[in-house]
Amino acid sequence: MSEVEQTLSIIKPDAVERNLDQQIKSIFVKNGFKIIKEKKIKLEKNEAEQFYKVHQTKPFYNDLCEYLSSGPILVMVLEKKDAVLANRNLMGATDPKKAEEGTIRKSFGISIDKNSVHGSDSAENAKIEIEFFFKN
Ligand code: UDP
Ligand code: MG
Repeated sequence: MSEVEQTLSIIKPDAVERNLDQQIKSIFVKNGFKIIKEKKIKLEKNEAEQFYKVHQTKPFYNDLCEYLSSGPILVMVLEKKDAVLANRNLMGATDPKKAEEGTIRKSFGISIDKNSVHGSDSAENAKIEIEFFFKN
């Protein structure tokens, strides 16, 4: 059964640095997502390490955390029917070279690490990630 759900999206430093945040936000809105919450922040490295701790054993973990904390990011809660999957589809493959035409990563991603956007990969992780950035 499909239902309205929320997912966490991050416009990563490479895209914020190139002033692509408004353009990427408008792609989400055009594709039927509601932007429920948003904030622009800069993470400390230890916060990036916490956020990406699922990847802590990967060879790219340290560089990934350095990168995510290297500059401002725009964090958003997106809402739509089946938002998690819809966002993953709109983002495209992790490696922009492998992403389909019309996806955000195909359009804007620079490389497998500087791939412009993050999106939660499951409803369960979406809840954890939303809580991470927007608990109050
Ligand atoms: N990443 C990387 N090298 C890799 C794989 C991933 O630098 O070989 C980075 C990339 O920025 C990616 C993030 O680590 O978005 C998280 O990886 P994941 O496999 O969860 O990809 P995603 O869910 O972002 O598509
Ligand atoms: Mg992931």
